[in-house]
Amino acid sequence: MSPKAPITQDVMTIPRKLPEGKINLVGLTRDQLRRALIEHGTPERQAKMRTGQIWQWIYQWGVRDFAEMTNLAKAYRAQLAESFVIEIPEVVTRQVSEDGTRKYLCRIAGGHEVEVVYIPEEDRGTLCISSQVGCTLTCSFCHTGTQKLVRNLTAAEIVGQVMMARDDLDEWPTPGAPKDETRLLSNIVLMGMGEPLYNFENVRDAMKIAMDPEGISLSRRRITLSTSGVVPEIARTAEEIGCLLAISFHATTDETRDVLVPINKRWNIEGLLQALASYPKASNSERITFEYVMLDGVNDSDEDAHRLIDHIKRHKIPAKINLIPFNEWPGAPYKRSSNNRIRAFANIIYQAGYASPIRKTRGEDIMAACGQLKSATERARKSRKQIESEAGLG
Ligand code: SAH
Ligand code: SF4
Repeated sequence: MSPKAPITQDVMTIPRKLPEGKINLVGLTRDQLRRALIEHGTPERQAKMRTGQIWQWIYQWGVRDFAEMTNLAKAYRAQLAESFVIEIPEVVTRQVSEDGTRKYLCRIAGGHEVEVVYIPEEDRGTLCISSQVGCTLTCSFCHTGTQKLVRNLTAAEIVGQVMMARDDLDEWPTPGAPKDETRLLSNIVLMGMGEPLYNFENVRDAMKIAMDPEGISLSRRRITLSTSGVVPEIARTAEEIGCLLAISFHATTDETRDVLVPINKRWNIEGLLQALASYPKASNSERITFEYVMLDGVNDSDEDAHRLIDHIKRHKIPAKINLIPFNEWPGAPYKRSSNNRIRAFANIIYQAGYASPIRKTRGEDIMAACGQLKSATERARKSRKQIESEAGLG
């Protein structure tokens, strides 16, 4: 890794404070939006239609100002602006890597910061979004896990990351223009900061909005949720979100996984595999991704590769295996496996009949690679209680 200076870095300091007492419409489900409109003076018999209209302005056209909602009466627009705002996280910094990867640092309520990464590829563009500030879990190889500050993001802050990226990519359609088939932002992965299944409802509501056909309209097959293995929430992911699933597997014995992914002490490998074997959506066309970070001398032996295959076969899980070269971070207690070792490991998996792509490392020069996300801003350490009360969670 050669930490080079990023190509561009600009700082935007437009303050976007939530005006006192106003309700943010972003992140509300359709039903919540309808109820909010009624509570603030929209006649009940009009509420369904108004919900649809406002929804489209927000999520299909990317409009943030009620004054632009031209199919609503002027007086009604003014009335909406009295009670509501359309707010997304504020971009603090934006860095562009030599390979086109973009990393954004976004500020959310309470002054916390989350990172969002956009990865352009030939046939798709993937946005890696965060579900929490920091992470309560402490996987020993993950930079986010060393961060002290933790709170759940709201649904608005989660879908707001997608809207923020569409702003930056200038990808909102203009009214009347033909539908864009080849989108710059075509896929979402919940692989940024945080454990999405520890913030289930907000992640679900945000992803439902991202999939809604009258808005951002991403297919559920283009959204992947990555979890470290919160077993009791796995089936719900299929039932209530319906997206694809990735598992941070990373080790083939409980002894090693207990250290790398400590949630394993609560739900061990066998329990996790059983939950995956009965994952309602798993099929050959919707395989579960096993993420496996390659750590030198820790989990990268031939025996590990054989055990990994054995686990998957024994439970007949429709799977693909994604090998991730470890992304080192300052002070990390592990080293990346050599390229030869990764290739040998991949080969065993391939011989066993599974695809074994090795994840390309992207955006390393801007610390945007997988598992490196951690807001670098230093600030006074706050107690968990203080953070939760600020976020309205306490
Ligand atoms: N908390 C969720 C999602 C965020 S982490 C989870 O753990 O699945 C997204 C992926 O990056 C996970 O597979 C995680 O194990 C991996 N990861 C974390 N740190 C990494 C690092 N330093 N190098 C490579 N991958 C890493
Ligand atoms: Fe949290 Fe995932 Fe990092 Fe583990 S790998 S500390 S679950 S973000």
